[in-house]
Amino acid sequence: MQKVTKEYDAGEKVCPIKEVSLDIKAGEFVTIEGPSGTGKSTLLYVMGGLLRPTTGSVSIQGKDISNLTDAQLTTIRANQVGFIFQEANVFPTLTVLENVLFSTYLQTRKSSSKAQRERAIELLGKLGLGERLRFLPHQLSVGQRRRVAVARALVNDVSLVIADEPTNDLDIHWAEEVMKLLKDQVKNGKAVVMVTHHPQWAEAANRRFHLIDGDVREIACL
Ligand code: ADP
Ligand code: MG
Repeated sequence: MQKVTKEYDAGEKVCPIKEVSLDIKAGEFVTIEGPSGTGKSTLLYVMGGLLRPTTGSVSIQGKDISNLTDAQLTTIRANQVGFIFQEANVFPTLTVLENVLFSTYLQTRKSSSKAQRERAIELLGKLGLGERLRFLPHQLSVGQRRRVAVARALVNDVSLVIADEPTNDLDIHWAEEVMKLLKDQVKNGKAVVMVTHHPQWAEAANRRFHLIDGDVREIACL
C-alpha cells in the first residue's frame, strides 16, 4: 500500500491511518502492534480490500485495487485474501463445517468439492473441532468459535492471510496451534499480516511494526 490515509466520518472525523506505505512480500510474516484504538484493524481492512482508503492506493498481488467495483473487489478478496476478524464473527445459522466451506463457495460459486471438504475437515481436526462439524456456533465456546474463524480464513489457497488478534480467547495450546497454522502459510510462500498485543506471538514475525500516530514504524529485531 502506498501513502494510504483512512478517515472515518461518523459525525466526528477520525483519521487513524495517515499516509501509510507498507509493502508486504510473499513468504513474509508481518506483525502490527500498538495500543487499542490506534487503527490496527482499520489498517488490516484497507490492506485486504474490505475498506476503501480515503486517499492513496492499495495493491494485492501487484494489482491496484483502488478503482475496482465492489463486485471485482469481492472476487479479489475471495481469491487472494483470508481474513480472521478480531471479533471472530462466524455465521450463526451455519454449522461449523458450513462456515468454513462458505469461503470455498465465495471463491468458486459452486458447492464444495471433495478436496475442499477434506481440506476443511483436516483444518478443523487440527483445531480440535473434528467432533464438532455439525454444531452450530451457539453450541460452541468462544474459543471454539474463534478456531472456526481461523479455519474459514485458511481453507482457500490465498496469497495473503490477515489475522486480527487471532489468539484472543484461546488457551496456550490452541494459540500455539493457530500460530503453527499461520507459520505453515508462510512456509508455503504466503504472506501473513497479524495484529497482536502479545510479544510472545509477535516473535514469529520476520518484520514487526508499531502503529503510532497513524503511521507504522518498524521495530528493530534483536
Ligand atoms: P484498533 O484495531 O487499533 O483498536 P480500530 O482500527 O478498530 O483500532 O479503530 C481506530 C479508530 O477508528 C478508533 O478511534 C475508532 O473509534 C475509529 N473507528 C473504527 N471504525 C470506525 C467506523 N466504522 N466509523 C467511525 N470510526 C471508526
Ligand atoms: Mg482492532
